[in-house]
Amino acid sequence: MSPLTSPSLSRRGALGVLASAVALPLVAAPAAQAAGSMPTPSDTPPLAAIRDLADMLRELRKLERTSRGAIRVATLAEVGTAEAHSEQGRDLYVALVGHGPRHVWLQGRIHGNEPYGLDATLDVLASLGGNGSPAYRRMREEFTVHVIPMYNPDGSEANTRGTTLWDREADAPLLDGRGRPRTVDLNRDWGVGRFQARESRAWYEYWTMVKPEFALDIHHQWLKQDWVTGEDVTLSLGVSLAPGGPTLPSIRGGEYDRLARQLAGHVWLETLHRGHISTDRYDVGENTVIDIHGGVVSAMMMGLDWNGLNPTGHSNVAIFFETSGNTNSLGHKARGKLVQQNVLAVTAALDGMATGAVQQVDPAVWDRIPHTPVKYYSTDYAGLIPA
Ligand SMILES: [Zn+2]
Repeated sequence: MSPLTSPSLSRRGALGVLASAVALPLVAAPAAQAAGSMPTPSDTPPLAAIRDLADMLRELRKLERTSRGAIRVATLAEVGTAEAHSEQGRDLYVALVGHGPRHVWLQGRIHGNEPYGLDATLDVLASLGGNGSPAYRRMREEFTVHVIPMYNPDGSEANTRGTTLWDREADAPLLDGRGRPRTVDLNRDWGVGRFQARESRAWYEYWTMVKPEFALDIHHQWLKQDWVTGEDVTLSLGVSLAPGGPTLPSIRGGEYDRLARQLAGHVWLETLHRGHISTDRYDVGENTVIDIHGGVVSAMMMGLDWNGLNPTGHSNVAIFFETSGNTNSLGHKARGKLVQQNVLAVTAALDGMATGAVQQVDPAVWDRIPHTPVKYYSTDYAGLIPA
């Protein structure tokens, strides 16, 4: 057993660090950049500037301590899921905020090398826990938000996209036939015949316990330019089962196809006039969008019942946010505004769902968000499908 498999040990470590911790501001001062343009790429990634698991723990414990009970932090070991740790034995953390009857799933950093989902979810968590404005009070009364700042702690610590399957007896990576470590993209691992990684089994079981009404998922993409105008895109809005595509329209009579368009449309309208944000629809190349069944938020929409853990077939709508660039491509200069655009987008989604404004949005707004015509679906079940 790896020493990391002991939850009490890692908690003790975290509390030890906490004693001497100095609180860091959640959002750095906005970088002085022209509206909607990205800084010059850097080829020296400042990895030390990426917040790690210990940073997250320090921040979570501080927020929990100062929120007067509004924020509750738990490990999945404490929650009691059958699988409760990462492949390498790290604890999996969730923070709950709000006391409403409607449950919401907010996750960051399922891809370990996409760092700002962590920063953005912690920032949103702090506001939800402490902001006294009517909008935040309404969100707390409507929702119980399950904030997962670091879905993939092993990948985050290693700055890799996926996780590495681990032989706990040998305390070493499991190897494939050619002697290479076996890695898993956790965002392709929810599906019948999948669930290779312990993180997937743990978070899936937790999802079946929470049964959220909707989910939001934060990612990074490459440095993207608008396909038509050539201008920098800072944020892309996506649905992992394409609206109007091969899968989504047939789920619940098209309910999520409509609601995902409205939710993304609402976020777009609410962030449209923010000077530093330039938003389009997510794609994986000109004219090509994803329709993946093994993605976490896809499986949520499909109401996946794995191992009999979801016998009632719970499902929920979900969208994701893709920030352009990351510490590898941009250095650390753009951090403030990249984190802040995620905070604004997530907050717009939460507020719009709390007030019901999302359901009032014309679903056709989806078509007004900048994009190229969809000609292909990139799938994880049938390759490339013509639209
Ligand atoms: Zn990602």
